[in-house]
Amino acid sequence: MKEIRSGAGADALVRATAADGQIRCMAAVTTDTVAEAARRHGTSDTVAAALGRTLTGAALLGAWQKEFDRLTVQIECDGPVGGITVETNSRGEVRGYVRNPEADAPLNAEGKFDVRAVVGGGMLYVTTESGFDIGLYREPYRGSVPITSGEIGEDFTYYLAKSEQIPSAVMLGVLIRARASGETFVEAAGGLMVQVMPGADERTIAAVESSVSRAPHTTKLIREGATPAEMLRAALGDVPFEVLEERPVTFACPCSYERAVSLISSIDRAELRAMLSEDRGAALTCHFCNETYRIDEPSLSEIVQSRNV
Ligand code: ZN
Repeated sequence: MKEIRSGAGADALVRATAADGQIRCMAAVTTDTVAEAARRHGTSDTVAAALGRTLTGAALLGAWQKEFDRLTVQIECDGPVGGITVETNSRGEVRGYVRNPEADAPLNAEGKFDVRAVVGGGMLYVTTESGFDIGLYREPYRGSVPITSGEIGEDFTYYLAKSEQIPSAVMLGVLIRARASGETFVEAAGGLMVQVMPGADERTIAAVESSVSRAPHTTKLIREGATPAEMLRAALGDVPFEVLEERPVTFACPCSYERAVSLISSIDRAELRAMLSEDRGAALTCHFCNETYRIDEPSLSEIVQSRNV
């Protein structure tokens, strides 16, 4: 099975614990992953920021997933973007799409991309599933909260507090810059989450809170070349932490020509015949990565004939 990946970059994710497990933290650099998602879907800059923050937030939440786990974040919203869906697994592979990639809004009062304006109100859903790909499927867990901010980072914070009862600091950032030609590009993207686990002592919480509040902006650090571990160092200050795992992050989608053919093969025979005579082939586009698979006339004809048996 061929997988579509972005170029090998510096995108990576770490998960760590601090203060003897009282604090759980994760950080990620997702610049190439977000750029790849924006390029594939032809997003406006504001939507690139919204999708990029969601991709990064999902990757961070997914940092504690085990093999065969899958985590999906869905934002069902009434703003012009219409909806955002992102999926990630334990290998740091993420993919995602939005309903209206070209949706846009004027810059906000601070001169930044107005993510809140394109998202609007609605719901944030987080679904974790296990074993789906190997046929050992367990009942999924789904948590949801209303969208209270629309800036996405704050919505993840609210989700973690309300749905998982984990007080967290969440920082998600996508920095988009313009070249001299006027063309824009993702210069830096990434984020971090710092979570206070049950039973943490007050002194540790106070030290972490004070340090996190003084930390530089994540995209500033990433632009300067910081690794995820260095981002955690900047956020946690004097609080020592232990990195448990580092993994690459990539935009990856398991769709393929073979999967498109097998999907087409399951369509009703009359409908296949119509496709053959009217369209002289078939085209399938993957929602998640926007890749289009074209099945030409001879191949489609072969599929129809195989169905005649
Ligand atoms: Zn795909």
